[in-house]
Amino acid sequence: MGTLPSAQAWFKFGETTGAKLMTDQMIAETTPENVSDVTTEPDYEVVVIGAGVGGLYQIKRLVDLGVRATVLEGDDDLGGTWYRNRYPGARFDSESFTYGYSWDKELLEEWHWIEMFSPQPETLKYLNFVADKFELREHLQFNCYVEQMVFEESSCSWVIHLRDGRKMTARFVLTAIGPLSVPTMPRIEGVDSFEGESFHTFHWPIEPVELAGKRVAVIGTGATAIQLIPEVAKEAETLTVFQRRANWAAPLNNRDISEEEMADIRKRYDEIFAACARTPGGFEHEPDRRGFYSVSREERLELWDRLYDGPGFGIWLQNFVEIFMDEDANAEFSDYIAERTRRRVNDPQLAEKLIPKDHGFGIQRVPLETNYFEAYNRDNVHLVDSSETPIERITRTGIQTSDQHYEFDLIVYATGFDAFTGAFDRINIRGVDGVTLEEKWSDGPVTYLGLLVHGFPNLVMISGPQTAATNFPRGAELSVDWATGLLGHMWSEGKKRFETDLAAEQGWFDHVVKMYEPFLLRTAQSWITGYNSNLEGHEYGKTRYNIYNGGGPRYASRLQQVAQEGYEGITIE
Ligand code: NAP
Repeated sequence: MGTLPSAQAWFKFGETTGAKLMTDQMIAETTPENVSDVTTEPDYEVVVIGAGVGGLYQIKRLVDLGVRATVLEGDDDLGGTWYRNRYPGARFDSESFTYGYSWDKELLEEWHWIEMFSPQPETLKYLNFVADKFELREHLQFNCYVEQMVFEESSCSWVIHLRDGRKMTARFVLTAIGPLSVPTMPRIEGVDSFEGESFHTFHWPIEPVELAGKRVAVIGTGATAIQLIPEVAKEAETLTVFQRRANWAAPLNNRDISEEEMADIRKRYDEIFAACARTPGGFEHEPDRRGFYSVSREERLELWDRLYDGPGFGIWLQNFVEIFMDEDANAEFSDYIAERTRRRVNDPQLAEKLIPKDHGFGIQRVPLETNYFEAYNRDNVHLVDSSETPIERITRTGIQTSDQHYEFDLIVYATGFDAFTGAFDRINIRGVDGVTLEEKWSDGPVTYLGLLVHGFPNLVMISGPQTAATNFPRGAELSVDWATGLLGHMWSEGKKRFETDLAAEQGWFDHVVKMYEPFLLRTAQSWITGYNSNLEGHEYGKTRYNIYNGGGPRYASRLQQVAQEGYEGITIE
């Protein structure tokens, strides 16, 4: 085997915008022949699971290194979350140019984001453009749903079982299976008995859904429903929203991006990604550090008016940091948002129903909206308060509440996801001694750096539980770069097996728990704390520590430090 680059060289931390991933010499030194010196037995050196945002970048890095790698995707095409979530109004809440990949100058030059917050069809087009530009498609295998993975100590590899009965082996497995990719249907009697059309938003059909002339029900008022409702309201004959708990929301303030503005964005890409790397959330939005109590009420109102009319997550992430930690500060700001909401809903009683009374603004993930509250001013839109009149069952023709029966042609379930661990649980991952990951995580995820799990060697999770909660691609790029660095280290040292130590895992878990403590989000009744009323073991109060709240920069420097210190906390043999 030729001289291979050092661990640090493989790990291209922070060098994102336009940075070449590896030098030509490094790539030449990492020919498949070199790599296969240590890996003759398994079918693949690396299997990546999932062809979404994370999986596509991961395979790009492996292809550049000439590694025998493939992507297994359960769906029949690429895109992950953007392939699936086709409901009207689906789009991300990140400024488009902060959501795109940062690692190829040419790609940044070529792609024109048409809207400030790209809609789903455009984002899917973007991911296809990336796959075609870098000829990644030939490395993607579709309709390959991984049902089981067993670590075989004797061959030091993963044996991967597909749903169609095929089996393959891989030295290393990298999961890029998404934090919100397993939808949960409500546990309501009669869901299967409805004779009209019905589906979860995640399974919104690819073929256009005719809404005109239909009586439509939407169950749920999370970020998904809040995007969907105004769009359905425009088309449907009637729309009835079943709201169990009201949700805070603020305007997205989307708009088109002109050719001239895009040209300017292209010039600023270095600056944009530098800001994303500097801010806790991986956006350009920087928190206001003046101090909530150091400025006057007038100054606070001036900031809030500006943010409410400004784009995206500014209202959340450019706010005073006390909003996230201090109940009084949070209450004052929540009152402000409540007042803004009241101004937008004609019926004052209805407005009160739409304003949460059980939690403050920003404690749960804030949905951003376009005309959400105005939708309730339409004659064809009705709100059913499911906290007062709960849904009792779904019937052949509609929904029976404790109070009356409603007839529908279409029922849409916007009822959320088995977040973070769901996608792992359904694979049946068996590590050393046959222990399953689902068993290990029965009370919630435990990881080292959100990337590795003790007892599950040669497995790295891209954007797994307990990675920093950030603008998704910014965090995914961190995970991919770190995983590639670790594998590079393995190859350069001629090693075959890595496993994180129990003590390192415990240390990270303790830190993750500690980083929930200062934040009011520790009380969130949402996926942030693992709550899901439709899943056994996910009751409110049984906190599952799904995310790392320490912010992107702190997380990034920890990853860098671990790599620089020769992968501290990981046994490599
Ligand atoms: P969610 O936030 O978990 O919301 C689920 C909704 O369904 C809640 O209103 C919940 O009510 C309701 N619900 C669940 N089961 C129910 C039942 N049995 N009966 C009545 N109501 C029920 O799910 P989501 O809206 O799909 O959003 C999930 C996450 O996806 C978001 O937080 C966000 O991270 C991501 N997302 C992102 C974007 C974007 O980037 N723009 C868009 C959409 C989603 P309770 O509150 O009472 O439980």
